[in-house]
Amino acid sequence: MSEPEVIMEALHVCKSYPASDGRWLRANEDVSLQLVKGKTLGLVGESGCGKSTFMRFLVALDQPDSGKILYRGQDITALRGETLRQTRRHIQMVFQDPGASFNPKMKVRDIVCEPLLNFGLITPKEKAAVCRSLLEMVELPGDFADRYPHSMSGGQRQRVAIARALALQPEILILDEATAALDVSVQKNIIELIVKLQRERGLTIGFICHDIALVQSVAHQVAVMYLGRVVEVLPGENLRSEARHPYTRALIDAVLDLDTDPRKPVTVIDSEPPSPLDIPAGCPFRDRCGQCFEKCAREKPEMRWLSKEHGVACHLVSEEG
Ligand code: ADP
Ligand code: MG
Repeated sequence: MSEPEVIMEALHVCKSYPASDGRWLRANEDVSLQLVKGKTLGLVGESGCGKSTFMRFLVALDQPDSGKILYRGQDITALRGETLRQTRRHIQMVFQDPGASFNPKMKVRDIVCEPLLNFGLITPKEKAAVCRSLLEMVELPGDFADRYPHSMSGGQRQRVAIARALALQPEILILDEATAALDVSVQKNIIELIVKLQRERGLTIGFICHDIALVQSVAHQVAVMYLGRVVEVLPGENLRSEARHPYTRALIDAVLDLDTDPRKPVTVIDSEPPSPLDIPAGCPFRDRCGQCFEKCAREKPEMRWLSKEHGVACHLVSEEG
């Protein structure tokens, strides 16, 4: 098997936002992650843990305070002007609510062709034919070209958003809670479409989602975030059997094991995470962890690699080996 080709890499990314009382909110702390060509990286964690903050750096919509975002070896946080614009072509994003990001007065034809016109890649005359093939790609009928965003369902709008994002034939597609607002059956169809498009085009995907079961079903590699830090990284297919961090285990037990083995004790975290303004010293998860011991209050656990693909930031795991 050939070595995985890392096409995008975040190195020690940090970001804080000023809070109203003069304190700083740490939204990302020392985040290092990799996107491998043709594969999906899933990013999971409770609301507010810093997922969207991080993904905005990958599409250069925002910049970290420190750290690097490398795309094919080049630090995109340093890019400006036309070079930045050209790089953005290769990294596109789909948001949770495309209804909110579409101009309600634009027809689907104009929505999906806009990026191509902006980059001068097609002429207005070519719009009809290009739109037809983009709609076909996302399995929508050709006559949707004449529709407005409000006359489509959530699932159809999300297909249009995917068509628009893929119009420029990007190498990387970032989906931020892109299926979160949809019914379960529609969600399933969109996921199937994304997987199919990935297979056909060798797309590299960043898939952000608060639902660990869904992430596990699509992601080759899963990164679990807690209060701005990555606490565990591991292959999606081994998530259930090999996850070691007590936070990952709690997320898994809460959603995956309930209907499979009713005799198994379930460790569900019923508490709220601490405020990101008040992250405890030592391990950020220790207040909610049933297994914490003295060292956890003292020292912040560093990421320890159990294998090339599996890293855990937890003192328990480090002590057990
Ligand atoms: P997630 O996507 O995981 O729900 P976010 O990345 O959106 O989390 O947010 C992480 C933390 O940073 C949250 O506490 C959020 O309130 C805060 N945050 C995000 N963006 C800003 C901003 N522009 N200004 C101030 N705080 C922000
Ligand atoms: Mg978010």
